[in-house]
Amino acid sequence: MISTRRLFSAVASSPSLRRVKYADQYRALAAATSAVPSSSSYSPVPPAGQFHIARAAAIPPLCRTTTTTTTRSFAASASLIPPNPAMLCRQCEQTQDGIACTTLGICGKTAEVSNAQDALVHVVKCVSLWCVAARRAGVTEEELRDANVWSLRSAFSTLTNVNFDEERIAEYLKEGMQIKKDLMGLISSKGVVGADAFPTGPVADLTLDPSMSCSDLEEFGKSVGILARQAAMKNDDCFSLTEIATAGAKGVSAYASHCYQLGYIDEANIIAPLHEVWSKLASDEPDLEGLLATTLRVGEINLATLALLDEAHNGTYGAAVPTEVRMTPVAGKCILVSGHDMGDLYALLVQTEGKGINVYTHGEMLPAHGYPEMKKFPHLVGNYGTAWQNQKIEFATFPGPVVVTTNCIQEPRKKYRDRIWAMNEVGVSNVKHLPDGRDFTPVIEQALKCKGFASDATPVKYTTVGFNHRAVLPLAGEVITAAQEGQLSRIFLIGGCDGTESERSYYTDLAESTPDDSLILTLGCAKNRVIHSEKLRGATLSNGIPRVLDMGQCNDSYSAVVVAMELAKALNCGINDLPLSLAISHLEQKAAAVLLTLLHLGVKNIRLGPRLPAYITPGILQVLVDKYNLMPVGADAKEDLKLMMEGK
Ligand code: SF4
Ligand code: SF4
Repeated sequence: MISTRRLFSAVASSPSLRRVKYADQYRALAAATSAVPSSSSYSPVPPAGQFHIARAAAIPPLCRTTTTTTTRSFAASASLIPPNPAMLCRQCEQTQDGIACTTLGICGKTAEVSNAQDALVHVVKCVSLWCVAARRAGVTEEELRDANVWSLRSAFSTLTNVNFDEERIAEYLKEGMQIKKDLMGLISSKGVVGADAFPTGPVADLTLDPSMSCSDLEEFGKSVGILARQAAMKNDDCFSLTEIATAGAKGVSAYASHCYQLGYIDEANIIAPLHEVWSKLASDEPDLEGLLATTLRVGEINLATLALLDEAHNGTYGAAVPTEVRMTPVAGKCILVSGHDMGDLYALLVQTEGKGINVYTHGEMLPAHGYPEMKKFPHLVGNYGTAWQNQKIEFATFPGPVVVTTNCIQEPRKKYRDRIWAMNEVGVSNVKHLPDGRDFTPVIEQALKCKGFASDATPVKYTTVGFNHRAVLPLAGEVITAAQEGQLSRIFLIGGCDGTESERSYYTDLAESTPDDSLILTLGCAKNRVIHSEKLRGATLSNGIPRVLDMGQCNDSYSAVVVAMELAKALNCGINDLPLSLAISHLEQKAAAVLLTLLHLGVKNIRLGPRLPAYITPGILQVLVDKYNLMPVGADAKEDLKLMMEGK
């Protein structure tokens, strides 16, 4: 790692950065990253049960509340899981005691929903096996459309904080079984014969009775859940990889669903390889090398997906530009829109035009204000609230209906439940769900009946969004000059998911402690740890570039990748040689997908926190530490900062 000044001085005559078309950009990135060492270069990890304690002690703890995270990961803690638990979910960072949710999710997910979601993931694997066979048989993309969309949406509905409604999960299951039947028919119609024509094995052969009771469904879910599959695989490290890849594949499915919402779909680079991944995950074979490759492959597919989503957002609503957003309400009737789907917000803005209703963004919708096609609506007046985990307070105090387009939703309080309108994959029992088609008539009617804000809130506050890579790259020349002149000491990427834990204040502490001559790139809802800081509000480098560049949603992580890759290219160095420190706030499966993308790109020295996912075994953690120098966030952000400033 070299210092900012030395690095930038070394390229004093570097050609100016080019802005390129983004399909081209993705192709270039894909080509550039094909040189990243394949997973087959990994040293084998120690088999389960033989993890050497002395070696474990050398691994940095990835949490701050126990001596080592390795003691909290599932291989070491299996004995802490009660026999025959009502459920077992450990897919997100919030999981109970850092081990697993076994009776009721910390997120509020019931055992019934958790088991039904396990069943649904199993059916996604089944349908994926049939999709792979169908492609081999010559079934066309058009013929596969229903299966493609169903598999994305079904997997998305099993993410943390998306769907708490067992009935909706059961609907997806029924559709999945019908899709499998349709795929059998499509393959047969192609006249393909032979042993390879149809997939075989217990997952491919799966049949569920559409009239099965909820309790039968839950029992089935348990029979294909984590504990059953882990026992079948008989290798904890291999099973850990299946859980990492599963989390990542869910995240990719969510991002690809967002693309589909905007009419963008990529069969060759996203859907087909995703089905290959699910098919691999259908197997119980403890194939360590193959699973490592599959896990990194998820990161690669996610890179393609994020690139497509970037194109979908900026192609549909105009290239995002830096835009000041009012963060305090104004008098009038109002609707709040949360989640990630821009298409839903746009449709609502069209339908509320001239109706005397102000529209506000919430959470991950904040970046919408940067798009020209959104900004043109004067009744998109600002943003209300912060990140998802504060919604029980923020939705309760908002005097109008709240539309939740996608994650993250929490079980609504009675006080405002009747004002919540779920959409798309989001599901909560006894919460109204808008049918597909984006007809907001009932929401608008409710907004007109609600009292709205009586007056403008004061003092008025603003933040600036829209620092997409298209807006940041033209600043690169000035950034390089600032570094050459000793006016830029370091660049930080502080982003990811936000959450309830007090330890997440680390990210605010880190941002506020960064030197005045450093830049902070931020994205995802963890940005709320940065953008509300009074210390950082309005701060600029000596050349006037804002110190905090809000790159958008977690869906816009591609922007950070492009900026890093382009800077490295301009400076003729690797990403890991840039004066860049990454502190990622991890929570759920989209974050897992982004982490895998960074690993696929060979990015090292990432600080991850506040806790390591419970599904990572000591053996797999060792691989990540050895290969990528993955680090925990420390107990003290200022101490970490000292190391970061030294390039560590
Ligand atoms: S999603 Fe997270 S909090 Fe919810 S049940 Fe699973 S591990 Fe627990
Ligand atoms: S960044 Fe992650 S935690 Fe935050 S709203 Fe999006 S999906 Fe949820």
